[in-house]
Amino acid sequence: MRMSSNHLWKASVFNNTVPSGCGATWFNSSSSCLFSLSGGAARTLDSVLESLAHGVPPNDALTHQLSALGLIVPEDLDEYEGERVAFQDRLRARETLKITIAPTMACNLRCTYCFQQHLRRSPLLDRGIQCGIVELVRRLMQGTNLLVVQWFGGEPLLAWPQICEMTADFQRICADCGASYYAEMLSNGTLLSADKIAQLDQIAVRALQIPLDGDVATYALRKRIPIDKARAFHEFLAGHLQQIVDKTGSVTIRVNVDRDNPDGGKEVVRMIRAAGCVDPRIDFRLGFLNTSRGILECIPHDCFSPNEFGDAENDFRRFLAEQGYHVYGQPSSRRFPCAAPLDHSFTVDPTGRIGKCVPSIGTGESVFAHIYPGDPVKTLDEIGQAKIPYGGFDPFAQGPCRGCSLLPACLGSCPKMHEEGATLLCAMKTGLSDRLSFYAAEPINQTAGESKQWLEIQPSS
Ligand code: SF4
Ligand code: SF4
Repeated sequence: MRMSSNHLWKASVFNNTVPSGCGATWFNSSSSCLFSLSGGAARTLDSVLESLAHGVPPNDALTHQLSALGLIVPEDLDEYEGERVAFQDRLRARETLKITIAPTMACNLRCTYCFQQHLRRSPLLDRGIQCGIVELVRRLMQGTNLLVVQWFGGEPLLAWPQICEMTADFQRICADCGASYYAEMLSNGTLLSADKIAQLDQIAVRALQIPLDGDVATYALRKRIPIDKARAFHEFLAGHLQQIVDKTGSVTIRVNVDRDNPDGGKEVVRMIRAAGCVDPRIDFRLGFLNTSRGILECIPHDCFSPNEFGDAENDFRRFLAEQGYHVYGQPSSRRFPCAAPLDHSFTVDPTGRIGKCVPSIGTGESVFAHIYPGDPVKTLDEIGQAKIPYGGFDPFAQGPCRGCSLLPACLGSCPKMHEEGATLLCAMKTGLSDRLSFYAAEPINQTAGESKQWLEIQPSS
């Protein structure tokens, strides 16, 4: 790209400006550049971009800086179409195979906000389905150099022996075809033991997400367990968290909040801090209890409104920074909104139903094929002939997000909310000004990476 004022330039369509302090914060959702300027400097940048629109280029040095930040682009570049095509290419890519496996829909808890408590209790996946999944993975690995498995449920730790067996099979398959392997896990954590923690690296779990609710009494109430049991679990978790982080490399503690436990996140952070664990690889975040994913029509909670939740998140970020913890979640360009629209990504429930949407696992929603034990060809044929849910997802070209200047950093949020008859909940814009100003003032080292991105959108369990 020539950095000359003779070259014609225009402002990026992905520039976003929000007021902050006594100036403005700038964010480009494609380049991820983020910074705040004082009032005078902000006005200067505004006028430079306005002059550009009238054909007056900035000097060479400024042109160089602004183009390096992605705030200006060559006039003949269709950057919106470029982002759209790059996004579609990523959805079609086959280098990585992602499989979310629920080895059981059973759970040892009955969380008040979990949709899965209403599902028919299912046993562990039987051996036929288990072998069928392994066989499907073996055949789908052709031309793939990375296999990522997400263990989901129900409570996946109820199926520990099956997870260990399947992991050994997946590791063998990957070794045979020269591919890499790692896993992620969403677990309520209550079945973790010192033995299991010691084995987390052997089963290649690189990211673990555990949901909490705030203080011990709130947890006991929401998990419907005796307070002694809740206290014992919190003590065990706080005492072993450092070891879990060391074994996996990344732990997300998701604290589900509503109007009745608005400070739940802070209570959890204080508990972990009191136990002496301040590792920057712990990703504390608030979980928004609501029904936006459409799996349940109502949950028995006094849910925050989107604006209230946005305020709670901003307050929690400031608290985390004060406490010396890493604050994850800085807005930046994303690779995909979730795994559902990726061609090479599937979910499998314990009865062998193959679908796309992770929180819908165990329901019929998004199911498009089945594992046929002993007949992998039939399974592959069914996948090949199915109309795959979210297969045509393109928020750049159609739907309510078309033209949004935040698209590269948001990618339309949840593909399910773009289905006919669904309503989009635009969480990205809620509290955006505060969020951008916060991260602009506290530059965060982005270490979350792609694997954590997959964990970003999760159900309430
Ligand atoms: S969900 Fe909101 S912020 Fe995200 S792309 Fe759509 S309109 Fe833009
Ligand atoms: S973001 Fe939406 S489509 Fe994607 S996994 Fe979550 S609920 Fe399903």
